[in-house]
Amino acid sequence: MARIETPKRVRGTQDIFGDEQRRFAHVLATFERVRALYCFQRVDIPIFEATEVFARSIGETTDVVSKEMYSFPDRGGDSLTLRPEFTAGLARAFLTEGWQQYAPLKLATSGPVFRYERPQKGRYRQFHQIDAEVIGAPEPAADVELLVLADQLLRELGVEGVTLQLNTLGDAETRDAWRQALVDHFEAHRADLSEDSLTRLAKNPLRILDSKDPRDRPAADSAPDIDAYLTPAARAFFDAVTAGLDAAGVAWTRNPRLVRGLDYYRHTAFEFVTDRLGSQGTVLAGGRYDGLIESLGGPATAGVGWAAGVERLAMLVPETSPIAVDIAVIAEAEEFHLPVVALTAALRRSGYSTEGFVTGNPKKRYEKALKADPAYTISLSRMNGLPHVGERGRRATFHPDELRAIIDPITNGLA
Ligand code: ATP
Ligand code: MG
Repeated sequence: MARIETPKRVRGTQDIFGDEQRRFAHVLATFERVRALYCFQRVDIPIFEATEVFARSIGETTDVVSKEMYSFPDRGGDSLTLRPEFTAGLARAFLTEGWQQYAPLKLATSGPVFRYERPQKGRYRQFHQIDAEVIGAPEPAADVELLVLADQLLRELGVEGVTLQLNTLGDAETRDAWRQALVDHFEAHRADLSEDSLTRLAKNPLRILDSKDPRDRPAADSAPDIDAYLTPAARAFFDAVTAGLDAAGVAWTRNPRLVRGLDYYRHTAFEFVTDRLGSQGTVLAGGRYDGLIESLGGPATAGVGWAAGVERLAMLVPETSPIAVDIAVIAEAEEFHLPVVALTAALRRSGYSTEGFVTGNPKKRYEKALKADPAYTISLSRMNGLPHVGERGRRATFHPDELRAIIDPITNGLA
């Protein structure tokens, strides 16, 4: 008979197991805890949206929309896209679900996102993000709150060696003037630019500043900073953000080359970066996107937020240990199978993590149980013709009276 071939895991996807899974879960649990400390409300939104939700809010000229989206016609012929990020879907929900009435709205979410990229360490096609957004708050206090939240999350995860890089993209007036200065500068250096950056020059000149192509670096590094173009209002906004960070004790460094490509990005742009993950060093990134909601046909609405890669954070958190087994319950003879089922259930209902050993060779069950490294073992066997309840371990760790009240009613009745 022909051998049946096992289907392969799809390239760029992951089966998250063991220590890796525990770190992953630890990142999500810590995010859930910390976002609640900042009174951010959890929301859950669809994994797929109409393609135009992303095309219009992320922008056709970005890598994400032009090269990385998983888009497909569904059976009804509508073009759908697996979400490549959360912000666009949250903005769509803000408009379609009438969430305007709750503005300003502090939102947190997490889950899988999809991008067709070249897979490598820290870069997948299905990966996971945690995400925090404040929609409807135009004040710098919202930017500060989001950054302090991100900083506390990283601290609580015990992630070390991460720096917050901060920049401002100014207001509309600032940005137009700076953009023109950049176009003039890069036009004068056309001959030195990569092909990608020549395209960017036409569509998205700010993006040349953060090009990773070494050919672009001399022109990018010598380009004018935004500072000379900041209006007094834009400078005041940035000063308010940095003063807030200083007041909250969050360290930051200025990176004048940090940009977000789209026209509606304003003011704050930031990344938390580490040198411990090679070229996948950005763990958390975001900024202010006043204007995004308008690009989806909504009213002028301020917004600011960030997203972080769960896998990249998980790679940075300390090693975890497997679930601790409080109690192992062993049936050393077949006749004790049901009492062990009863005991195991009773112990678990009382909050003890319990593993029952009722299958396999009865004589080997005890050895098997010890391998689980329980704090306490209870074994039911027959000795000299009588049922015997053996107990061993650090019962002091538990509440001895409570334990007796669970165990005795079940074992007393054994014939
Ligand atoms: P990069 O420059 O690494 O491609 P990006 O600018 O595309 O990142 P964002 O869109 O800002 O990333 O997404 C926020 C975070 O999501 C990133 O900082 C990173 O931690 C994570 N991330 C982005 N793409 C991937 C991916 N393909 N696999 C795993 N994590 C990712
Ligand atoms: Mg990317």
